[in-house]
Amino acid sequence: MSAWCFADHIGPPAPDAGPSGIGPHPHIGLQTVTWIVTGELLHRDSLGTEQLIRPGQLNLMTAGHGISHAEESTQRNSGLHGIQLWVAQPERTRHDAPAFEHHEDLPQTDIATGTARVLVGSLAGVTAAARRDTEHFGAELILDIGTGSIPVRGSDEHGIVVLEGAVSVSGAPVTPGNLAYVEPGCDEIPIHTYTRSRLVLFGGEPFESPVTMWWNYVARSTAEIDVANASWATGDDRFGETGSTMNRIRAPRPPWRTGH
Ligand code: MN
Repeated sequence: MSAWCFADHIGPPAPDAGPSGIGPHPHIGLQTVTWIVTGELLHRDSLGTEQLIRPGQLNLMTAGHGISHAEESTQRNSGLHGIQLWVAQPERTRHDAPAFEHHEDLPQTDIATGTARVLVGSLAGVTAAARRDTEHFGAELILDIGTGSIPVRGSDEHGIVVLEGAVSVSGAPVTPGNLAYVEPGCDEIPIHTYTRSRLVLFGGEPFESPVTMWWNYVARSTAEIDVANASWATGDDRFGETGSTMNRIRAPRPPWRTGH
């Protein structure tokens, strides 16, 4: 919905959860928006970035033409709970150089029955500092029991992922593991919270075009993905080196390349 094209809810961790890092892998054409609730991750990328991310902080990586990164678990804390969202880059910026931002101070505001921390874009008049290539926003909401509504722009479409708790959105129940979709056309989202809940609300204007997504690539065609994947397989300069000692992750075979 809008430029938001993927949501990976990480955890909550099982009691016996071990390390949960991910070795070096490539991306093109997207931004990763990483938000941690408990635990921590060490981000290393081919720009030379080495950045620890802790709860309440935002990592925003822009892949553009190509970047590789590793997300390592640390000795200190392997009980990881969080979410990584992907934002498709528009044609205007998706072939540009990669970039990375880390934000420690995120603006907050009261909203519905609780508070919102704005990660990207604007919500309820509060604006985050993070880079943004399209008209989209994302926020973490912590809501107490009760009924309220979230003011939004009528031209936007929205998604909600519940990280902890249980809510209903426009009357439909949403719990961890579900994705709620709210189509454009309303200027507030009615929300009822059954138990103190933590959720991520994201939205924006409908995206400029369909995208072709496969593995870690956001593109416009399978041919573009084949070219990127060949660079990753051969280790040419496109995706660089992360400096991580973890094993590089190999791509599976694309479904459109069968019969070999
Ligand atoms: Mn990644």
